[in-house]
Amino acid sequence: MSCIYIHIPFCKTRCIYCDFFSTTQLELRDQYVNAVCKEIELTDKYLDGDTIHSIYFGGGTPSQLTPSQTGRILDTIQAHHPIAQNCETTIEINPDDVTESYVAALRSLHVNRVSLGIQTFHNDILRFIHRRHTSQQAIDAVRQLQGNGFSNISIDLMFGFPGETLEDWLHDIEQALKMNVQHISAYSLMYEEGTKLYDLLTHQQIQEIDEELSRTMYQTLTERLKDAGYEHYEISNFAQPNYYSRHNSSYWNNTHYLGLGAGAHSYNGTSRQNNISNLKEYIDDIHLGEPRVEIETLSNDQKYNETVMTRLRTSKGLNTDSIKMNFGNDFYHHLMTTATPYLNIGLLKITDGNLSLTPKGIYISNDIIASLFV
Ligand code: SF4
Repeated sequence: MSCIYIHIPFCKTRCIYCDFFSTTQLELRDQYVNAVCKEIELTDKYLDGDTIHSIYFGGGTPSQLTPSQTGRILDTIQAHHPIAQNCETTIEINPDDVTESYVAALRSLHVNRVSLGIQTFHNDILRFIHRRHTSQQAIDAVRQLQGNGFSNISIDLMFGFPGETLEDWLHDIEQALKMNVQHISAYSLMYEEGTKLYDLLTHQQIQEIDEELSRTMYQTLTERLKDAGYEHYEISNFAQPNYYSRHNSSYWNNTHYLGLGAGAHSYNGTSRQNNISNLKEYIDDIHLGEPRVEIETLSNDQKYNETVMTRLRTSKGLNTDSIKMNFGNDFYHHLMTTATPYLNIGLLKITDGNLSLTPKGIYISNDIIASLFV
């Protein structure tokens, strides 16, 4: 089983915290869709005829494509790849793009999962980060999707905005729970270099929230969602039973995936390849029949590091025997030696042969994971 990811790098406006590859040159959408369809033809052997069980439109803002543009991409995928009967087809959408006709069109395209970028239900924060929707629009969008038969909805939330209090965050969590969505992804706000948010911070116009508060916010999130029946299956991801995201899961299950569009990555088990992150050059190259990709053959060290990183982010963790089996004794010894200090102080644990982060360890997961690398 393989997956397909399509990157849609268009946004109506830019949010101040975002460093994703996207553009506001909406006039290029049609040319871009043509290029993606051509790329599907050019790369049709990449997955060796394997059946596709997840198709994911990410962005950018995929809901900035018209349904007919989205449909053209889906039809072309269908013409070149076998698609599983129960394929999970997800589209990331912004609440302000949700209309009755758009939702109906998604249904007719057999999109069966949507991921809504909500971030917060506080209008003052939404305005500050330059999101285009209001809290009410986000609530209405979820209702409209549910009313039109969407039974697999994910929402994205963020916490740790400048000036945000624990009460503010609790309000967001409770509002999310009221909507009874199947999946919640929650991230702490990051100050990425090159963004307007980063500039505000470096010019001391805003202040990061206190680290202790950020930790409490994350802890509150995990406890509250767990109480409400969500499974905390990955550091930032929570799902009702049987609603783990297939797209997310593919990254730690070593599933092969084809990434289409400017800036997209692909992986076929031995190498990773990246499409060029320049819209115009991507379109031009594809039309010449020569997509530009950077291919990186993964060394054993890189594969080991990726396995450690992706698996340790999951609640199931990393099976230590599988490290011995797939990478050999030296890697196994390295893993156990580097993990031992964290096991001793309760930041990592081993259950049924699976090494995983404890709740205390999750908060400094990046540091722990990096120190297990070769
Ligand atoms: S957060 Fe999403 S909508 Fe905002 S600029 Fe980034 S990709 Fe576009």
